[in-house]
Amino acid sequence: MSAGTEQERAVVAAVPDGLFIGGEWRPAAAGGVFSVEDPSLARELRTVADADADDAAAAAAAAADAQESWAATAPRERSEILRRGYELLIERREELALLMTLEMGKPLAEARGEVMYAAEFFRWFAEEAVRIEGGYQASPDGKDRFVVMKRPVGPVLLITPWNFPLAMGTRKIGPAIAAGCTMIIKPAEQTPLSMLKLAEILTEAGLPAGVLNVLTTSRPGEVVEPLMRGGVIRKLSFTGSTAVGRLLIEQSAEQVLRVSLELGGNAPFIVFDDADLDKAVEGAMAAKMRNIGEACTAANRMYVHASVADEFAERLAARMDALTVGRGTDGADVGPLIDEAGRTKVDELVADAVQRGAKVLTGGRHAEGEGYFYAPTVMTGVSPDSALMSQEIFGPVAPILTFIDEDEVIAAANDTEYGLVSYLFTENLHRAFRVSEKLDTGMIGLNKGVVSNPAAPFGGVKASGLGREGGRVGIDEFLETRYLAMPLG
Ligand code: NAP
Repeated sequence: MSAGTEQERAVVAAVPDGLFIGGEWRPAAAGGVFSVEDPSLARELRTVADADADDAAAAAAAAADAQESWAATAPRERSEILRRGYELLIERREELALLMTLEMGKPLAEARGEVMYAAEFFRWFAEEAVRIEGGYQASPDGKDRFVVMKRPVGPVLLITPWNFPLAMGTRKIGPAIAAGCTMIIKPAEQTPLSMLKLAEILTEAGLPAGVLNVLTTSRPGEVVEPLMRGGVIRKLSFTGSTAVGRLLIEQSAEQVLRVSLELGGNAPFIVFDDADLDKAVEGAMAAKMRNIGEACTAANRMYVHASVADEFAERLAARMDALTVGRGTDGADVGPLIDEAGRTKVDELVADAVQRGAKVLTGGRHAEGEGYFYAPTVMTGVSPDSALMSQEIFGPVAPILTFIDEDEVIAAANDTEYGLVSYLFTENLHRAFRVSEKLDTGMIGLNKGVVSNPAAPFGGVKASGLGREGGRVGIDEFLETRYLAMPLG
């Protein structure tokens, strides 16, 4: 276990040890463990159990065993478990935030925000669990009646990334519980601790054994593929990169699994000449710097009207320059990147942009510290053929390009395989609607740099994914629609 304060050590030590299968904590079948690191110190925090295919089979058996009785529970009971889960998350907010900061690096204030965001998915789906509706209708010829019903899809496999260790889990676990599905969750290798803690909390909230099973592993392919092909799992809900999402779509074909995919993004951030620049700079800070720039929703390409570009760039650079970089536990504004590979990727993208003519207004280098720190960066004069225009930066780097014409900027914004979110700053209502309708993304932030909300349908189009999480439609992803047909007699 690493250095760190006594409080930090205590929070890490309080995470349950082992895999969580069938309501029990147990070591991996083969006895292996792997290391979890604090990215702000580049040092080991602790080890966790390393599942393999045998553990996956045990988790599948536990999820299968629990499915029938879980599906038969009263919606109100499932709702109340979620409600208790929501309350416990809020009660334990400080402990969970510290744990998340230690394993992922984000500033404590943002980790506290994520705990609240994560808890809200439980509150929202506690409310949805008791509103699963059906229907009764006459056939067009009047002779038959149809009774339309919903039922849980069955055991589900949930796979989450490292950037939001808790919220990406509750966004899937919440609707799965509400719908009556049992589940296996595989958190990211770099941030498994928050999920292990969450399993403990949900048990305390009353979740029956076998409903939630947690597999931590350093061998995701070896654990996930047999689950995808094994015949127990009926649906996959995945959040992560488009590359892994594509692989899992292929694997889903064998058992014809339902899939929900929240994949990568390449968000355009457009500032028109009639924008309120105060709002635009504020929005840019949020859309770029939330989660140290390591978010699928991060503004990846900033298109600013030529007439306001200099002022916008200077103001953004001044704000970025004023941010403190350091350990998230020490009150810094900006924490470390997740690992050395993540930082190397940012180095390479910035070097490529500079080589193609970009000017660095601030940053453009590593920041001091033992961990994987990178200085908040603003670049202007970025060439459209720079690598960062087509790849997720996943770091605190804001590339600015200029435009003049509305159609030109819409075409540039849509010129990507991704389609998760776009941001649009204008005070002209007609332009706001006109441009919004033409932007090819699942979500749009209008004069706003953060769109995520459990009550809204989050998700992308094109290579950014399939399906929606949250909102009224979020629970449908975990339900099958069936109907019964009968003659009136
Ligand atoms: P990733 O490499 O695709 O990993 C995501 C999850 O998939 C992890 O749990 C990972 O396990 C697992 N995985 C990796 N290889 C696998 C395989 N062969 N079979 C099955 N599972 C496998 O993505 P990441 O780097 O963790 O996360 C960043 C990406 O997630 C970015 O592209 C970001 O845009 C996207 N993201 C999207 C959303 C959204 O809502 N659209 C939200 C957050 C993040 P390991 O950790 O062991 O590799």
